[in-house]
Amino acid sequence: MNIFLQLSKTDYERQIKNIIYAFFLSAEFVACRTQEMDLALFVEILQDKISIRLENAKEEWIKEKSFSCKEEQRSIEIEQAVYEVISEAYGYILSWGILTGVRPVKIASRLMKSGVADEQIIAEYTDRRFVDAEKAKLCLSLAKTENNCLQNMPKNAVALYVHIPICPHRCKYCSFISKQSTDQYYIAQYLNALLQEIRAIGAYFSNKNILVDSLYIGGGTPALLDADMIEKLLFELVQYFDTGKMREATFEAGRADCITVEKLEAMKEGGMSRICINAQSMHNETLQSIGRGLTKEEFLHAYALARKYSFAMNVDLIYGLEGENESMFYDSLEQVISLQPENITLHTLAYKKKAKDFENKMRREREHFTGFDSAYGLLKKKGYVPYYLYRQKHAVSGGENTGFCKEGTEGIYNISVLSDRVNIIALGAGAVGKICEKNTHRIRRVDGCQEIDFYIQHIHEVIHKKRRIYEASNKVF
Ligand code: SF4
Repeated sequence: MNIFLQLSKTDYERQIKNIIYAFFLSAEFVACRTQEMDLALFVEILQDKISIRLENAKEEWIKEKSFSCKEEQRSIEIEQAVYEVISEAYGYILSWGILTGVRPVKIASRLMKSGVADEQIIAEYTDRRFVDAEKAKLCLSLAKTENNCLQNMPKNAVALYVHIPICPHRCKYCSFISKQSTDQYYIAQYLNALLQEIRAIGAYFSNKNILVDSLYIGGGTPALLDADMIEKLLFELVQYFDTGKMREATFEAGRADCITVEKLEAMKEGGMSRICINAQSMHNETLQSIGRGLTKEEFLHAYALARKYSFAMNVDLIYGLEGENESMFYDSLEQVISLQPENITLHTLAYKKKAKDFENKMRREREHFTGFDSAYGLLKKKGYVPYYLYRQKHAVSGGENTGFCKEGTEGIYNISVLSDRVNIIALGAGAVGKICEKNTHRIRRVDGCQEIDFYIQHIHEVIHKKRRIYEASNKVF
């Protein structure tokens, strides 16, 4: 979809483009009106008068809207108007309306904190941002869950993330920074650098009396480490960080083919309370076409092994995988529910590259996609409640990622990381921490380095860089 966008002021360009991307995943913006152009959108701002005109050169139709608004309302009213002209022209609405951000729950959390009544919070979503009423209610209930989970956290508590960005196999749909390797020497080198960071940063925070509230070891594929490595990693974490009052420790085991009895024992001995084994789909033909290199039977075997260790278990499923329709996704969900994991996370596939194939696929899906309503309904019927939600840009059908849990088994780290209320200390290549400055509401990213080889070779530099950032944030730590 080639779009010519002409703005009399560039102030609202990013918001307008986000609305356009929400409708047209493959939107490409062209610099001038050409024969290849599909749509032209003109936004004219003259003092308090705004005019929006959408033209389809090929089909020769025009949609227009003009209105007056105060300057402080201009941003949202322009977004609303652009949404309305596109929605009218193409005859469909988006369940998230003009809300294009990745954390839709934040609006409810902010308003709740200011004492705004529930009905007004819902209206903020539905009336101002055209969000579907069910999604609005979901956001409000998730804001309440977040508050219940985090309100009694000690002021000196943080969430700790440890990243293992290596996988034995590259899944076709993956957009994470993760290196493919099974070379034990390379993995040991990475672990060695990571342990140095754990010791240095752990000692720094223990001296400052910082407590770990939740720990998440994620990837990549952390279960790629052998049992001795897992034992060593978990031992050093407990040695160098204060985990005495930790409420949750998750090991994202990830791929079923990496899970063994010895590794599960090392996780249990090392104090892990929650593990994730990700099915993604319960259909072997899908698993094959997405290059997962695994079967449903391997997943079931690993799940049964892990069940003996009394971990809280999470299973991920992805909606929108190549070759899957909605009923296949629903069938996978029914199979996973029958295993009774404590947590089930539903992801929507997100495309990182905007390709035309994806656009066509998304259009087709939009015609048939009934949203996650039936999946959410089934989970509710089986005793699961949503506890966290986030969105990704370029997700199939504009869908979201939602974590469900049996009551009382919310993933604390997941809630913490999305809340922007909890400081995140993140260790490892590609791991990004977060400092939440409560007084200014500023969120500062703490990024050591993205590149795994650089991390291994220059670990002292990475540690030094992070320490400098933490030292500069002495009002927080
Ligand atoms: S296991 Fe996860 S991180 Fe690794 S390649 Fe597959 S999707 Fe990406």
